[in-house]
Amino acid sequence: MLKIIDASFLTTSVAPDGYPADGLVEAAVVGRSNVGKSSMINALAARRKLARTSKTPGRTRALNFYRIEVEQDGARRRVRLVDLPGYGFAKVSKAEHQRWEEMVSTYLHRREQLRLVIGLVDAEVGATPSDEQMLSYIRAAGQPILLVATKVDRLSKAKIKPKLLALSQQLQLPLDRIFPFSATLRTGVEEVWRALLEQVC
Ligand code: GDP
Repeated sequence: MLKIIDASFLTTSVAPDGYPADGLVEAAVVGRSNVGKSSMINALAARRKLARTSKTPGRTRALNFYRIEVEQDGARRRVRLVDLPGYGFAKVSKAEHQRWEEMVSTYLHRREQLRLVIGLVDAEVGATPSDEQMLSYIRAAGQPILLVATKVDRLSKAKIKPKLLALSQQLQLPLDRIFPFSATLRTGVEEVWRALLEQVC
């Protein structure tokens, strides 16, 4: 049994001097804009508007830190989820892309509290070139990866497994690191939490 005890927004930051300073362990979440990242964070936190799907101005191009307390099989654990800015916008200037890359790779390379990166891909669309690029950033930083395939409610049951297998092959990730997820149906919430806690705690 898994229960959310508390979930709150902590802070927004664009650089290390603004990251929370305590030693609480972190799992970062990253994906193309519109992949369902805010919806997944809300589903994991069991809150409707923690990460706003409407997108608060100023928060979308920065790192957002959330603190979550969960109870798993009677034991309480605290983690921070770190929402990294989305990528893959059609119209970004080179300078903007560089700013994004600098912000994300600084976090991925330097953050001592970071234990796991949760990468999101749209289950129906599959991994795009920008998703592959993101994965290579995470790997270059030496961080463990867990992949969430979002919006599986849009696929028929028979199509989910082949999509997961294709992602596994394309991205060179074992199938047990890939989680089918639907924020709408709350599919995968418990499984992602278990894998996350196993990795970070
Ligand atoms: P973000 O930009 O990655 O934070 O994506 P959002 O969470 O804002 O979601 C983008 C769009 O996808 C919104 O219209 C959501 O309603 C939709 N969406 C998110 N999760 C799901 C899901 O599990 N199933 C379906 N069918 N749509 C979803």
